[in-house]
Order: sequence, then C-alpha cells, then structure tokens
Amino acid sequence: MTLTERLEAIRERINTACARCGRNPQSVRLLAVSKKKPAGDILAAFNAGQTLFGESYVQELLDKAPQVSAPVEWHFIGGLQSNKVKYLVGRVSLIHSVDRLSLAREISRQWQKKESVADILVQVNLGGEATKRGAGEDEALELIPAIAELPGVRVRGLMTLPPWNPDPEQVRPYFARLRELAGQVAAMGLENVFMDELSMGMSHDFEAAIEEGATLVRVGTAIFGERT
Ligand SMILES: *Cc1c(COP(=O)(O)O)cnc(C)c1O
Repeated sequence: MTLTERLEAIRERINTACARCGRNPQSVRLLAVSKKKPAGDILAAFNAGQTLFGESYVQELLDKAPQVSAPVEWHFIGGLQSNKVKYLVGRVSLIHSVDRLSLAREISRQWQKKESVADILVQVNLGGEATKRGAGEDEALELIPAIAELPGVRVRGLMTLPPWNPDPEQVRPYFARLRELAGQVAAMGLENVFMDELSMGMSHDFEAAIEEGATLVRVGTAIFGERT
C-alpha cells in the first residue's frame, strides 16, 4: 500500500468506528505521528489531505519543520524538558504531554512573553508504570487546579499512553477510565479548564479509543510504516 492508501484506509476505519458508536466523524481528529520520519513523508501525507502532525522530540521538530513547505499544523506529544519549551512557542498548537506544574509554569511564561496562551493536555499515567511519564490519577486531580491558575495556559483535556498490549480490548478499560477522569475534572468547574479533548489511541487500538470517546487519535506506524 502507498502512504495515500494507508491514510485513506485509516480514515475509513475512523468513520466506521464512529458509525458503530453513533459519533460524528468530525469529532475525531487524526494526528499523524511523524517522529523519526523524513519531511518528504510529511509532505506526501499533506498532499493526501493530512494537515495535522505530531512530533515527540523538540530538536527533530526544529530540524524538520523548515523542510516542510506546506501549511501543516504541529502538535507536540513527547517528553518535554522545561529548558526546551521556548522553542515550541508559535510552532505547535497543542502540547499533549504536560505532567508537572514546573513544566506548565514554563509553558505559561514563554507563551505569555508572546502575548499568547498555550493550549495543553495533561498526560495521565493510568497504568502507574514507572517507565512512563504522566501524572498519576490522584496527582492529576491536584495538578489541574494548580495549572488552571496560570495565565498563559488553557487545559483542553487529557492524554494517556496506556500499558502496551496488542489486544485493544485489554487497553479499552484505560480509555474508558480517562474519559471518566475527564468527567470528574469537568465537574470541578474550573475556569480555564475545558475537558473537550481526549488524546488516546494509537495504530493498533485507535478504534477502541474512538468508541470510548477519543477526540484525537495519535497514529504513526499505520500511516508511515515501522520506525527504524
Ligand atoms: C510514537 C507515538 C505514537 C504513535 O504510535 P504508533 O504505534 O506508531 O501509532 C502515539 N503516541 C505517542 C505519545 C507516541 O510517542
């Protein structure tokens, strides 16, 4: 299959998953995860109608973005060090991976310098895995009200990267849990906090994620092929 055919197949699967659970396909955005893939692949995807791309490494984004001569939209989805935040201002429209107050503070500070407000998601580590980033559930419930106080940040929702399992049905409970948690946060009625985005689901499990409420699915391998 060509990249164009793979993209079409994924859009088709998104539409089918939406139909299965009575959701409007417009309510799910496909984030093409282009980390470790060359600018040429991104342009090919853009020419096939894909405009939203996700990157995981700041340096790679800085190197690649100038080579992508098309009006694409970037999201940042990887682990983020506070000292690199300044490079993302004006470059990314959403940061999916905010998991601590110090990072949110720096994002707020850098965006404010540009008289702007950053849209962010709080990454939640639902599996409690030591190897994964993200605030624990209880931690997230304390972190979000603190982030809400910052003038340069708007919390748009939650993101999760559940424990790896090849069977989407084994991952589904984590997706359901993230949606419940978003409901809990929404019920707090915090100013500056909008639980309208759920970033969950990847190449092998995005359909289950959509059925559980995902608004952003992060798909890499199924679009661009294996990363080497
Ligand atoms: C790499 C990555 C993805 C994409 O994973 P695939 O299995 O290639 O679809 C999604 N989310 C995050 C946070 C990633 O780092």
